[in-house]
Amino acid sequence: MSLSRRVSHIKPAPTLQISAKINELRSKGVDLVGFGAGEPDFDTPNFIKEACIKALKDGKTKYTPSAGLPELREALSEKLYRENSVHYAPSEIVVTAGAKMALYLIFVAVLEEGDEVLLPSPYWVTYPEQIMLCGGVPVIVPLKEEKGFVLTAEDIKPYITKRTKILILNSPSNPTGAFVPQEELKKIVELCIENNVFLVSDECYEAFVYDGKIFTSPASFSKEAREITFTVNAFSKTFSMTGWRVGYVAAPERYAKVMADVNSQTISNATSFAQYGALEALRNPQAKAFVQEMREIFEKRRNLAYEMLLKIPYISVVKPEGAFYIFPNLSKYSSILGSDLKLVEYLIDKGKVACVPGSAFGAEGFIRISYCVSEDTIREGIERIKKVLEELF
Ligand code: PLP
Repeated sequence: MSLSRRVSHIKPAPTLQISAKINELRSKGVDLVGFGAGEPDFDTPNFIKEACIKALKDGKTKYTPSAGLPELREALSEKLYRENSVHYAPSEIVVTAGAKMALYLIFVAVLEEGDEVLLPSPYWVTYPEQIMLCGGVPVIVPLKEEKGFVLTAEDIKPYITKRTKILILNSPSNPTGAFVPQEELKKIVELCIENNVFLVSDECYEAFVYDGKIFTSPASFSKEAREITFTVNAFSKTFSMTGWRVGYVAAPERYAKVMADVNSQTISNATSFAQYGALEALRNPQAKAFVQEMREIFEKRRNLAYEMLLKIPYISVVKPEGAFYIFPNLSKYSSILGSDLKLVEYLIDKGKVACVPGSAFGAEGFIRISYCVSEDTIREGIERIKKVLEELF
């Protein structure tokens, strides 16, 4: 008896593995600085929790429609119009169990066996796994550190073939924090339209863009852009609700309908009372201030982490423009030890500081530092990295 070919390659998410390792060491009393987490260190705001508790008490504990609560889809439709300047009717929105499930629904709905998906690299760990689970072939579009890892239409062109079905766009990016400027985004969208390529716009980090830059949803550019785009987002990062598992995808109705049907045959619906919490996140006037405060704090932490990393000899580092990660190039050090995985193990064992190896994101020689920790912890952690790296020479 053997398992299917589709799952034969699947790897557990390395980011979650690092988190597990951090928890294990901490439970043994090790004083570890954890730079591995892909989630804000803020608590979910109380008004969101209260709305969820009220829903539970009111007996909102049963199945919801598989596309999500009608009032949540209505509120999302308003949000997308108000904040992203794109009109999606509630019937074009599917609420699901986090952005991860939203992405999976898209790949299930769109990909035929052997279809190619353009994946700018460094990429978030889950994309290639999900693409392959759905029969697709990830085609890596390499991004250059010298260009700040920012995707351009020119980068994509050489990789388009007759089998290209989807381009993945994740701006601001996990793991690099790179942010595609609006003019370039327009060129990328035009290229997709000309070549009949779907655009999956993963907007999970839209709330975390720095230096006064403004986030733009590609679906807002034109009717044609909206036609080819799947707009993906979640409550996870924006409202510090990673464990709630509520996300969504917006797309033309014929696609949304299919994805809602797949939802209905897999998870049925995102958890009922969690959806009420999500609804409160969209409707409560305190939410804006909460998100803004988080953004300001993250921007300060980004500045601190960047300034400190710049001072470590033999590393290069791109200043991230969004998200909450920084992705320095430590290849001078990782080559001494043999790989970035070995380097990450060395940093944990000798320096008591945990990061994620760049190879998990398709970029050997780098490490991902998540600055979802206090400024003091950033100082302490980067000092530790510096000290143990010096010992390698
Ligand atoms: N997309 C990106 C780029 C992410 O970094 C993450 C989480 O790390 C997700 C999607 C998944 O979000 P969710 O927790 O809502 O499933």
